[in-house]
Amino acid sequence: MEFLRPTTWQEALAAKAETPEAVPLQGGTDVMVEINFDARRPVALLDLGPVACLRDWEVAADGRLRVGAGVPYARIITELGDRLPGLAQASRTVGSPQIRNRGSVGGNLGAASPAGDSHPPLLAGDAVVEVESAAGGVRMIPANEFYLGVKRSALRPGELIRAFWMSPAAGPQYFSKVGTRNAMVIAVCSFAVALHPAERRAGTGLGSAAPTPRRAHAAEEFLAAELDWDGAPPLGDALLTRFGELAAEAASPIDDVRGTAAYRRHAVAVMARRTLGWAWNDYREGVAACA
Ligand SMILES: Cc1cc2nc3c(=O)[nH]c(=O)nc-3n(C[C@H](O)[C@H](O)[C@H](O)COP(=O)(O)OP(=O)(O)OC[C@H]3O[C@@H](n4cnc5c(N)ncnc54)[C@H](O)[C@@H]3O)c2cc1C
Repeated sequence: MEFLRPTTWQEALAAKAETPEAVPLQGGTDVMVEINFDARRPVALLDLGPVACLRDWEVAADGRLRVGAGVPYARIITELGDRLPGLAQASRTVGSPQIRNRGSVGGNLGAASPAGDSHPPLLAGDAVVEVESAAGGVRMIPANEFYLGVKRSALRPGELIRAFWMSPAAGPQYFSKVGTRNAMVIAVCSFAVALHPAERRAGTGLGSAAPTPRRAHAAEEFLAAELDWDGAPPLGDALLTRFGELAAEAASPIDDVRGTAAYRRHAVAVMARRTLGWAWNDYREGVAACA
């Protein structure tokens, strides 16, 4: 197996162009497991570890955060938890401290598993994925268009993920995950909500409840029509229940070893209700504090 070790982003793009079959390696928490279990035997590995810029994040000129593909979950929690609270909550549920020290959102996107924990908050927070190839240049792909099928993404041959872009939270964000235990567990299903008060709308993201992570569009439209952002009254049971139902209708889950489709639908409805309730309560407290 060839081991390619570029030290700059341009070298990485050139190496990927020259050896298209090379498998990118960031934290290795997916790739090395597959290799160790003989599930994958790539002819070449493209180690992105030495490409320092992938581990940087910055505030871009437009105020959005541009977070390098290789920034590990541990740093998202400690350095960006205040600005990306939904993603930080999801990051806290990933694996163990060792996995959170190595694993990255870039690797989660590269794997494009429907169960990846970063996807729901990326969807709810309107993230955009920056990808680049030597031949095709830079493309900006909204998270909503990134996931194409089970472990299939919109990445084209030769493209590498450079970063993801996301606005700092302008309102409360929550993530919830159901697993068979509290740590080191793949999601049975998950849900994220992000309130965008200035736009009078809420974003959503479902995980492990369909062939791809996806938004619950009808649930979002329902909230845009129903929420009273100015008066910010407590949410009634009927609204929460309907939101949960619409979120569950967006799912198209399967029966598998982790859970049945029926259980997943039920759990998505429960998580949607709860996360919206938590987020709205935070929002109401903010409104009351400013009144
Ligand atoms: C014990 C254990 C527990 C885990 N628990 C969880 C969990 O709770 N939740 C969860 O979501 N995941 C979990 N995972 C899976 C894994 O940790 C995550 O998917 C993580 O985000 C992968 O990041 P990485 O940097 O290690 O990726 P890598 O393993 O390096 O790469 C993953 C995939 O992305 C591709 N890739 C990497 N970087 C790029 C790039 N810049 N451009 C294009 N493609 C790229 C690789 O080729 C590969 O296909 C777990 C894994 C283990 C071993």
